[in-house]
Amino acid sequence: MTNWINRWEARLDVLNSAHRLRTRRLHTSVAPICFCDNDYLGLAHHSSLSDAWYQVGAEIPVGSAASPLVSGHYPTHQTLEERIAAWLGRDRALLFSSGFAANLGLAQTLLTPKTSVVQDRYNHASLIDGARLMRAPLKRYAHCDLASLEARLRSLSGPGVVWTDSVFSMDGTVAPLQQIAALCARYDALLAVDEAHGFGVMGPTGAGAVEAAGLSQDLVPVVMGTLGKAVGCQGAFVAGPSALIELLENDARTLIYSTAESPRMSAVTVAAIALMQAHPEWRLQLEDNVQYFRARACAEGIPLTDSKTAIQPIILGADARALAASQVLWTEGYWVSAIRPPTVPEGSARLRITLSARHRFEQIDGLIAALAKALEVASR
Ligand SMILES: *Cc1c(COP(=O)(O)O)cnc(C)c1O
Repeated sequence: MTNWINRWEARLDVLNSAHRLRTRRLHTSVAPICFCDNDYLGLAHHSSLSDAWYQVGAEIPVGSAASPLVSGHYPTHQTLEERIAAWLGRDRALLFSSGFAANLGLAQTLLTPKTSVVQDRYNHASLIDGARLMRAPLKRYAHCDLASLEARLRSLSGPGVVWTDSVFSMDGTVAPLQQIAALCARYDALLAVDEAHGFGVMGPTGAGAVEAAGLSQDLVPVVMGTLGKAVGCQGAFVAGPSALIELLENDARTLIYSTAESPRMSAVTVAAIALMQAHPEWRLQLEDNVQYFRARACAEGIPLTDSKTAIQPIILGADARALAASQVLWTEGYWVSAIRPPTVPEGSARLRITLSARHRFEQIDGLIAALAKALEVASR
């Protein structure tokens, strides 16, 4: 046992001396104003949702107590799936307990050692791990680069799947979905899109980047979205043709061998979706906040990327610089965590700032002033 503990401690020392040790910070009531969560519409802390939690009838249990295929599938899950499918204009939707589980389950259903999967280089870890888990040939293309994607598609010999984030989680860039869909049609590849950061905030009705691009189920047969980001709850879904959903129920081991999400949580999620659909102005407020942040940052000479979404990274390069800047922000009253490799490429450690509809302009002003100070300290 001491041997093992010594080894673990040595590994922790290596991480620590490389500025790569990660620790969790407690989210307490006195924590600074958060500018790094994914609560884009302010729903996670919305009083209507905590009210909804208590208003759900006593017949709806807290825990589902079984996997969906055994006895864990409740009417609240069913309603939530129907609302999501209707919103996205898809045949059916299927709930998973998290986005990570949904993506691994999709991989277990769609990929084999003979099915190549073509992925954007900046895709989320769960898409990469899905390919690895299934030992599917993984071909990565340069970020949002259509020529690079086409070269990979041209080299496919058998069936292929193109799998991409719609809004990239650490960069805020948006995949050129119309052009990607056209290439998939041309090379007969299946297109699967991860809408973790698009669902709820993009598109004319907020259904996501796929809706914004006007892409039907025929062109994007597989859409995955999460319920823990803009929706402010927990869990995830895959939406698409009935045959796909039925196959997932049979092949996705992360669904079959995992307890269904809390029935009470799914009832609250139904309420969250109704609120999102009734309040399009929240999405407009988010857009205003993003624009306000960018204008104020520009005026202060804070280096931005050209992201137009709620994810606004400030790339600082060295891990130590990102950590120092994050620490200054914390002491100034703003919570912006430092994102380091391997989450982002080597030499591109960053502050990943996220805006939310819940932020007020004065809070954004305060963040900008603190950022100017933090970047000053980090450049010393
Ligand atoms: C957060 C995220 C996931 C995982 O979703 P969880 O519900 O948090 O497990 C998957 N894909 C992308 C692109 C994400 O950003």
